[in-house]
Amino acid sequence: METLLDAARELQWKPFRLRQVHHARETELVSGWDQMTSLPQKDREWLNGHIPFDCLKVMKSEISEDGTAIKWLLETGDKKRIETVLLIHTAPTKKWGTVCISSQIGCPMKCAFCATGKMGFFRNLTADEVLDQFLIAKREAAKQGIVGNLNVVFMGMGEPLLNLEAVIPAIKVLIDPKRYSLSPTRVTVSTSGILPGLKRLFDEKLNIGLALSLHASTHELRLKLMPANAVYPLDEVMKEIRKWEKKTEVLYEYILIEGVNDSPKDARDLLKLLKGRNAKINLIPLNPVEGTGFRRPAARAMMGFLRLLEEGGLAVTLRHTKGDDIKAACGQLNARN
Ligand code: SAH
Ligand code: SF4
Repeated sequence: METLLDAARELQWKPFRLRQVHHARETELVSGWDQMTSLPQKDREWLNGHIPFDCLKVMKSEISEDGTAIKWLLETGDKKRIETVLLIHTAPTKKWGTVCISSQIGCPMKCAFCATGKMGFFRNLTADEVLDQFLIAKREAAKQGIVGNLNVVFMGMGEPLLNLEAVIPAIKVLIDPKRYSLSPTRVTVSTSGILPGLKRLFDEKLNIGLALSLHASTHELRLKLMPANAVYPLDEVMKEIRKWEKKTEVLYEYILIEGVNDSPKDARDLLKLLKGRNAKINLIPLNPVEGTGFRRPAARAMMGFLRLLEEGGLAVTLRHTKGDDIKAACGQLNARN
């Protein structure tokens, strides 16, 4: 598929032209090449004939009953499907959004609790496909009066650190002051702990946030939940993350699964693992996925687990599961439709 860079070459654009086109699309949020009235007519015609305005097609969009989550089913040029979610947060004086972006079609990591892991792996997304997800969500956010206040989390389908070829260039565009201009601290990459990817991303010095999908505090238990732990053992991953913790507070995600990782001993192991680290923990009530046999603990049990961590001195939050009714919550993305 041709890209805007091909267009620039073909139409012999001076650099300002490409900037103008990016600005119209990404900031003014125009909805088609024809609306780019600052372009010569012949350029618009060429674009219409060669480059789809969006490389992802919206097949379906669903909004949760309470209006705080919107999920898109998107189709790629080769007719594969991915999902993107916009979560809307409202506080008395402000409104902001979080865009949950997919990095791969499916995922090869096969975590035992995850809907995406169950569907297998098809291919990596391109940087344009990653960015178009953000643009689609940004347009909707603008309609809802959210301008500029957007966070991006790579917590949709796929393992972003296995697709740094596309994810790094996409992040660079997101934080480029001449493009989407997000503050790097508004971008968070979530990983199951891919060591080489962690090293490479750190060396890019992008100053973005990091989240580690932890879910278990001992090697043995983590191995049962996340096969990747055999290749990239927890202690090595935790050692690598020290570098990140010197610059930023790292978010540890911990899905609570009844009878699997939610006992007082599990809480103590977690405290031991994160003691003295620049860490914040996000407890995530499991979103049950068919065929896994895993259940979400009762609310009381989850609160008890949270309290043990707080008493141990950890910064801890319990995620409110927005969008449960439309399966927009993380780990439920499997593009089944
Ligand atoms: N592959 C990356 C990013 C995508 S997964 C990673 O694993 O970090 C995004 C988040 O959703 C991760 O924390 C993941 O562990 C979590 N998740 C996966 N399955 C889930 C489920 N069934 N319920 C709740 N969260 C889940
Ligand atoms: Fe892949 Fe993340 Fe799901 Fe594991 S939790 S299978 S790494 S998407």
